[in-house]
Amino acid sequence: LVRAQDVRKSFGPHQVLKGIDLEVSSGEVVCLIGASGSGKSTFLRCVNHLEKIDGGLLWVEDRVVGYRIKGDKLHEQSHNEICADRTDIGMVFQHFNLFPHMTVLENLMEAPLRVLKQRKDEVRRRALGLLEQVGLEQKAHAYPRHLSGGQQQRVAIARALCMQPKLMLFDEPTSALDPELVGEVLRVMKDLAKSGMTMIVVTHEMGFARDVADRVVFMHDGRIIEEGAAETVINHPQHERTRAFLSAVL
Ligand code: ATP
Ligand code: MG
Repeated sequence: LVRAQDVRKSFGPHQVLKGIDLEVSSGEVVCLIGASGSGKSTFLRCVNHLEKIDGGLLWVEDRVVGYRIKGDKLHEQSHNEICADRTDIGMVFQHFNLFPHMTVLENLMEAPLRVLKQRKDEVRRRALGLLEQVGLEQKAHAYPRHLSGGQQQRVAIARALCMQPKLMLFDEPTSALDPELVGEVLRVMKDLAKSGMTMIVVTHEMGFARDVADRVVFMHDGRIIEEGAAETVINHPQHERTRAFLSAVL
């Protein structure tokens, strides 16, 4: 579903991604780990068209991110084409960014109504179903400011899912939460993984990675240094850098 081939990205003179090769199959859950500044967020942002890559190629499904193929040439995508492609990708950030002036239910319904132009009754039914799935059906008419951080993050996940994405990207979804609220968000993500969603998750929660990830990918300084089954990478890391990182977070 996702294929990165020698993906490179610089900010000015600073090369942040130095050639990332990664494939994620449909239904797979990949956890991306690595020290601060190693390029994890930048990579996710590239997948979601939030940053333009400078080198290499990046596919989501059969489409090249940022470009369309015409004949045998690549042309830059227009803004509208980028927006259309992004509707297949859901992203959840560390900070939930809910619309503060809308109720929980309105937050979920906004994009499907405005962007996908779907029917209101259909969207509403789906939104209520998703709120049930994340354990918040009784909060449908509450405003975000009246919810705990963990509840807000579960709403953010449900809101992303309401767009019926094919791929979900999570960038440290629990790292801004009080410790006692982390579990409820991870549980929702675990259920989602079980349901067959394709997920790329940047996280420092090694317990989650071990339980849920099909594969763990360790990034260091803009490169993938080690990847493999969660159990292997976390319990028997081969690379010195991976060992140093894990002993710092575990
Ligand atoms: P963290 O664990 O702290 O979230 P990360 O692995 O997600 O780190 P990135 O956020 O991808 O790391 O950042 C990688 C490097 O790129 C950092 O040195 C950062 O300062 C730099 N960087 C990221 N975004 C920008 C930007 N928009 N402009 C300039 N530099 C940037
Ligand atoms: Mg980051």
